[in-house]
Amino acid sequence: MNLEELSKQFRRLPGVGPRTAEKMAYYWLTLEDEEAEQFVHTLENFRHEVGLCVRCHNLAVGSDLCEICNDNRREKSIVIVETPQDVENIEQAGIYHGYYHVLNGLISPRRGITPDQLFISDLKERIMNEGIKQIIIATSFTLEGDITADYLTKQLHGLGVPIYRLGAGLPVGGELNYADKATLKAAFMTKHEVGEEE
Ligand SMILES: [Zn+2]
Repeated sequence: MNLEELSKQFRRLPGVGPRTAEKMAYYWLTLEDEEAEQFVHTLENFRHEVGLCVRCHNLAVGSDLCEICNDNRREKSIVIVETPQDVENIEQAGIYHGYYHVLNGLISPRRGITPDQLFISDLKERIMNEGIKQIIIATSFTLEGDITADYLTKQLHGLGVPIYRLGAGLPVGGELNYADKATLKAAFMTKHEVGEEE
Protein backbone atom coordinates (compact mmCIF):
# COMPACT_ATOMS: atom_id res chain seq x y z
CA MET A 1 0.00 0.00 0.00
CA ASN A 2 1.30 3.46 -0.83
CA LEU A 3 0.03 7.01 -1.22
CA GLU A 4 -0.47 6.54 -4.95
CA GLU A 5 -2.97 3.73 -4.37
CA LEU A 6 -5.07 5.84 -2.01
CA SER A 7 -4.91 8.83 -4.39
CA LYS A 8 -6.19 6.60 -7.15
CA GLN A 9 -9.30 5.81 -5.08
CA PHE A 10 -10.01 9.49 -4.41
CA ARG A 11 -9.65 10.25 -8.11
CA ARG A 12 -12.74 8.12 -8.76
CA LEU A 13 -14.82 10.85 -7.10
CA PRO A 14 -16.50 13.32 -9.46
CA GLY A 15 -14.60 16.58 -9.91
CA VAL A 16 -11.43 15.33 -8.18
CA GLY A 17 -8.24 15.75 -10.20
CA PRO A 18 -4.80 14.25 -9.46
CA ARG A 19 -3.60 17.17 -7.29
CA THR A 20 -6.72 17.22 -5.12
CA ALA A 21 -6.64 13.44 -4.84
CA GLU A 22 -3.07 13.61 -3.56
CA LYS A 23 -4.03 16.31 -1.02
CA MET A 24 -6.89 14.13 0.18
CA ALA A 25 -4.59 11.15 0.57
CA TYR A 26 -2.16 13.21 2.67
CA TYR A 27 -5.04 14.59 4.70
CA TRP A 28 -6.21 11.07 5.45
CA LEU A 29 -2.86 10.48 7.22
CA THR A 30 -3.41 13.48 9.47
CA LEU A 31 -6.84 12.40 10.73
CA GLU A 32 -7.23 11.04 14.27
CA ASP A 33 -8.02 7.31 14.31
CA GLU A 34 -11.48 8.00 15.66
CA GLU A 35 -12.29 10.48 12.88
CA ALA A 36 -11.06 8.12 10.20
CA GLU A 37 -13.08 5.24 11.64
CA GLN A 38 -16.22 7.34 11.73
CA PHE A 39 -15.68 8.31 8.11
CA VAL A 40 -15.30 4.68 7.00
CA HIS A 41 -18.27 3.64 9.13
CA THR A 42 -20.49 6.29 7.50
CA LEU A 43 -19.41 5.26 4.02
CA GLU A 44 -20.19 1.62 4.76
CA ASN A 45 -23.56 2.35 6.35
CA PHE A 46 -24.60 4.58 3.50
CA ARG A 47 -23.77 1.79 1.08
CA HIS A 48 -25.85 -0.71 3.07
CA GLU A 49 -28.86 1.42 3.92
CA VAL A 50 -29.31 3.60 0.88
CA GLY A 51 -30.16 2.14 -2.49
CA LEU A 52 -32.01 3.19 -5.61
CA CYS A 53 -35.81 3.09 -5.65
CA VAL A 54 -36.95 0.13 -7.78
CA ARG A 55 -39.61 2.29 -9.42
CA CYS A 56 -38.17 5.78 -10.03
CA HIS A 57 -34.45 5.22 -9.23
CA ASN A 58 -34.34 8.05 -6.72
CA LEU A 59 -32.46 7.35 -3.46
CA ALA A 60 -34.38 4.97 -1.20
CA VAL A 61 -33.47 4.56 2.47
CA GLY A 62 -34.10 1.15 4.04
CA SER A 63 -36.90 0.29 1.58
CA ASP A 64 -37.38 -0.82 -2.03
CA LEU A 65 -39.36 2.32 -2.80
CA CYS A 66 -38.36 5.92 -2.11
CA GLU A 67 -40.49 8.20 0.08
CA ILE A 68 -42.10 9.83 -2.93
CA CYS A 69 -43.16 6.56 -4.60
CA ASN A 70 -44.53 5.43 -1.23
CA ASP A 71 -46.87 8.44 -1.19
CA ASN A 72 -49.93 7.46 -3.23
CA ARG A 73 -51.65 10.84 -2.92
CA ARG A 74 -49.39 12.51 -5.44
CA GLU A 75 -50.50 13.80 -8.86
CA LYS A 76 -50.27 11.36 -11.74
CA SER A 77 -47.41 13.07 -13.48
CA ILE A 78 -43.71 12.30 -13.89
CA VAL A 79 -40.82 14.74 -13.95
CA ILE A 80 -37.74 13.19 -15.57
CA VAL A 81 -34.50 14.39 -13.97
CA GLU A 82 -30.83 13.60 -14.15
CA THR A 83 -29.95 13.05 -10.47
CA PRO A 84 -31.50 12.45 -7.03
CA GLN A 85 -30.21 15.95 -6.12
CA ASP A 86 -32.55 17.37 -8.77
CA VAL A 87 -35.48 15.61 -7.05
CA GLU A 88 -34.39 17.13 -3.74
CA ASN A 89 -34.08 20.57 -5.32
CA ILE A 90 -37.57 20.47 -6.88
CA GLU A 91 -39.11 19.07 -3.69
CA GLN A 92 -37.50 21.85 -1.63
CA ALA A 93 -38.93 24.46 -3.99
CA GLY A 94 -42.44 23.10 -3.30
CA ILE A 95 -43.60 23.74 -6.86
CA TYR A 96 -44.46 20.23 -7.95
CA HIS A 97 -46.46 17.43 -6.32
CA GLY A 98 -46.21 14.46 -8.64
CA TYR A 99 -43.75 11.61 -9.14
CA TYR A 100 -40.26 11.48 -10.65
CA HIS A 101 -38.06 9.31 -12.81
CA VAL A 102 -34.33 9.63 -12.17
CA LEU A 103 -32.08 8.77 -15.11
CA ASN A 104 -28.92 8.85 -12.99
CA GLY A 105 -26.99 10.40 -15.84
CA LEU A 106 -27.39 11.94 -19.29
CA ILE A 107 -26.72 10.61 -22.76
CA SER A 108 -23.22 11.78 -23.67
CA PRO A 109 -21.45 10.93 -26.92
CA ARG A 110 -18.37 12.67 -25.53
CA ARG A 111 -18.21 10.45 -22.47
CA GLY A 112 -19.55 7.38 -24.25
CA ILE A 113 -22.78 7.20 -22.22
CA THR A 114 -25.55 5.58 -24.27
CA PRO A 115 -29.28 5.38 -23.45
CA ASP A 116 -29.00 1.76 -22.32
CA GLN A 117 -26.71 2.88 -19.46
CA LEU A 118 -29.47 5.08 -18.05
CA PHE A 119 -32.83 4.19 -16.49
CA ILE A 120 -34.91 4.81 -19.61
CA SER A 121 -36.21 1.41 -20.67
CA ASP A 122 -38.74 1.05 -17.82
CA LEU A 123 -40.10 4.56 -18.24
CA LYS A 124 -42.63 3.71 -20.98
CA GLU A 125 -43.98 0.88 -18.88
CA ARG A 126 -44.37 3.16 -15.87
CA ILE A 127 -46.28 5.75 -17.87
CA MET A 128 -48.72 3.11 -19.13
CA ASN A 129 -49.11 1.15 -15.87
CA GLU A 130 -49.41 4.09 -13.51
CA GLY A 131 -51.96 6.05 -15.57
CA ILE A 132 -49.64 9.03 -15.93
CA LYS A 133 -51.34 12.14 -17.36
CA GLN A 134 -48.32 14.38 -17.96
CA ILE A 135 -44.58 14.01 -18.51
CA ILE A 136 -42.17 16.86 -17.81
CA ILE A 137 -38.59 16.55 -19.04
CA ALA A 138 -36.36 18.47 -16.65
CA THR A 139 -32.87 17.76 -17.95
CA SER A 140 -30.35 20.62 -17.91
CA PHE A 141 -30.07 23.10 -20.78
CA THR A 142 -26.66 21.77 -21.77
CA LEU A 143 -25.68 19.84 -24.90
CA GLU A 144 -26.06 16.53 -23.06
CA GLY A 145 -29.33 17.64 -21.49
CA ASP A 146 -30.69 18.56 -24.93
CA ILE A 147 -29.60 15.27 -26.53
CA THR A 148 -31.27 13.36 -23.70
CA ALA A 149 -34.45 15.45 -23.92
CA ASP A 150 -34.68 14.84 -27.68
CA TYR A 151 -34.15 11.13 -27.22
CA LEU A 152 -36.80 10.92 -24.50
CA THR A 153 -39.28 12.93 -26.61
CA LYS A 154 -38.84 10.49 -29.52
CA GLN A 155 -39.13 7.46 -27.23
CA LEU A 156 -42.21 8.65 -25.35
CA HIS A 157 -43.97 10.25 -28.27
CA GLY A 158 -47.19 8.53 -29.32
CA LEU A 159 -48.23 7.24 -25.88
CA GLY A 160 -51.07 9.74 -25.83
CA VAL A 161 -49.57 11.57 -22.85
CA PRO A 162 -48.49 15.20 -23.30
CA ILE A 163 -44.74 15.76 -22.94
CA TYR A 164 -43.34 19.05 -21.69
CA ARG A 165 -39.89 20.46 -21.21
CA LEU A 166 -39.03 23.09 -18.64
CA GLY A 167 -39.16 26.56 -20.12
CA ALA A 168 -37.28 29.81 -20.05
CA GLY A 169 -36.06 30.96 -16.67
CA LEU A 170 -33.33 28.35 -16.79
CA PRO A 171 -30.42 29.80 -18.74
CA VAL A 172 -29.02 27.95 -21.76
CA GLY A 173 -26.06 25.94 -20.52
CA GLY A 174 -27.58 26.02 -17.04
CA GLU A 175 -27.67 22.94 -14.90
CA LEU A 176 -30.80 22.18 -12.93
CA ASN A 177 -28.65 21.34 -9.93
CA TYR A 178 -27.57 24.94 -9.49
CA ALA A 179 -30.94 26.59 -10.10
CA ASP A 180 -32.42 28.49 -7.16
CA LYS A 181 -36.03 28.25 -6.03
CA ALA A 182 -37.32 31.22 -8.03
CA THR A 183 -35.57 30.07 -11.20
CA LEU A 184 -36.98 26.57 -10.82
CA LYS A 185 -40.46 27.95 -10.25
CA ALA A 186 -40.21 30.11 -13.38
CA ALA A 187 -38.97 27.13 -15.37
CA PHE A 188 -41.94 25.01 -14.26
CA MET A 189 -44.41 27.79 -14.98
CA THR A 190 -43.10 28.33 -18.51
CA LYS A 191 -42.86 24.67 -19.49
CA HIS A 192 -43.75 24.05 -23.12
CA GLU A 193 -45.08 21.02 -24.94
CA VAL A 194 -42.60 19.11 -27.10
CA GLY A 195 -43.00 16.34 -29.67
CA GLU A 196 -46.61 17.10 -30.62
CA GLU A 197 -48.04 15.13 -33.54
CA GLU A 198 -47.28 16.86 -36.82
ZN1 LIG B 1 -39.23 6.17 -6.17
